[in-house]
Amino acid sequence: MVNKLGSKHVVVIGAGVVGATCALALAERGLAVTLVDRHDRHAAETSHANGGGITPGHAEPWNSPGIMRRLLSRSGSGEPFRIHAHALPGLIGWGLRFLWQSAASRYYRNARDNTRLAVYSAECLRRLRERHALAYHAWTDGSLELYFSRAEMDHALDLRDRIGDPGVRIRQLDVEQTVAMEPALAPVANRLVGAMFMPLHESGDACAFAAEMARCAAGLGARIRLGCQVREILVRKQRVVGLRLGGDGMADQELAADGVVVAAGCGSPALVRALGIRLPIYPVKGYSATLSLSEPALAPSVPLLDLEQRIVTARFGNRLRLAGLADFDGHDLSLRPERLALLIDSACRLLPRLAEEIRSSQVEGWTGLRPMTPKGPPILGPTRVAGLWLNTGHGSMGWTQAAGSAELLADLVTGRDPKIALNGLTLAG
Ligand SMILES: Cc1cc2nc3c(=O)[nH]c(=O)nc-3n(C[C@H](O)[C@H](O)[C@H](O)COP(=O)(O)OP(=O)(O)OC[C@H]3O[C@@H](n4cnc5c(N)ncnc54)[C@H](O)[C@@H]3O)c2cc1C
Repeated sequence: MVNKLGSKHVVVIGAGVVGATCALALAERGLAVTLVDRHDRHAAETSHANGGGITPGHAEPWNSPGIMRRLLSRSGSGEPFRIHAHALPGLIGWGLRFLWQSAASRYYRNARDNTRLAVYSAECLRRLRERHALAYHAWTDGSLELYFSRAEMDHALDLRDRIGDPGVRIRQLDVEQTVAMEPALAPVANRLVGAMFMPLHESGDACAFAAEMARCAAGLGARIRLGCQVREILVRKQRVVGLRLGGDGMADQELAADGVVVAAGCGSPALVRALGIRLPIYPVKGYSATLSLSEPALAPSVPLLDLEQRIVTARFGNRLRLAGLADFDGHDLSLRPERLALLIDSACRLLPRLAEEIRSSQVEGWTGLRPMTPKGPPILGPTRVAGLWLNTGHGSMGWTQAAGSAELLADLVTGRDPKIALNGLTLAG
């Protein structure tokens, strides 16, 4: 179990953006690392085709005070949120906790904790780029949050005031300044009331980023084992001793380990349940559509968030990604055509000059399950089983928080003090 350097062997479960980044952080600290995933490629689940935004200024959880009213008014087949009847029984316990956390005192604390991690993470990501040459269509010049209603904008400003600005450095723009920054918005200037520019924000292809993380980790000696399902985490005397792995056409085998980091997204609760650890993570389905642009000049370069329709856009070279929607649909990953159509209609409304191209293109539709906790912040750090660590439950912020979560975990696993306080970010609360 102990490698040549005398360091410990740590297995990270999950080669999504969270697990792959964590594997690199652990390898950078000289540990012997194995990154394991049940798929035969990196980032095959939620990190595959997400919105592509690094957005610490949007780290506030979704359940702000008054969420019940907003859910009722914005839920349905033509709305950004949809609660499917079949999912209701499995949603009740989590849903009640989600609503409980929406009380102002709890909500603003959670929002501050989540933003603190996201801002730290943006700094870690910048440092990661200084240490490694990474290719993932990175855009590092900020993003625009668009407002089509004065009331919505005032609400957002009030929310931000209450959360505080722990380094997000928001700048309010009027319509003219907004269109000057992103000319693709000129056709909707008459509906816009303004925007917030988030200079810290970035974008890129999270799937490519996860593969880059795994490549860099492998360069430092990490073993990457794809196509291996973790069937069981092996524990003796309340201490992790390894894993039981299986896979298509592969006999079950044991892999010894001194430590295990669970970064398995929506698969995390099932992995630790047998150890008596219950993770309150619900899979909230989202959609994305990606198209190749024949006229890139008409498309936005700056990543956009349209708060009215709740969609985001990001450019990866000549490809445009559109993402949004939140469906409570259990673990069902099926792509419902009417929901994809809603996303596309919303994008056409935001970007009318591109509407024809969006509608006539071969759009790659995709669904993914956000691993959401009722509080909003992820669950990081140790468990009561020695050597078992959690790095999961990042909800709608997984890529935004991946680099910071990886550094925190790597510090904890190697016995160093984490660089930011962990309160509100652990299983204990
Ligand atoms: C539509 C949409 C848009 C989004 N937009 C953004 C955005 O713009 N910015 C942002 O920051 N976040 C965004 N998110 C959220 C973000 O994508 C997720 O938070 C993030 O991908 C979670 O990463 P992860 O590594 O924890 O999980 P995953 O990417 O799901 O990775 C978990 C991995 O664990 C593996 N695994 C699970 N169980 C096992 C097992 N038993 N054995 C072996 N392997 C296992 C899975 O195969 C999987 O590869 C979006 C999500 C959606 C759905």
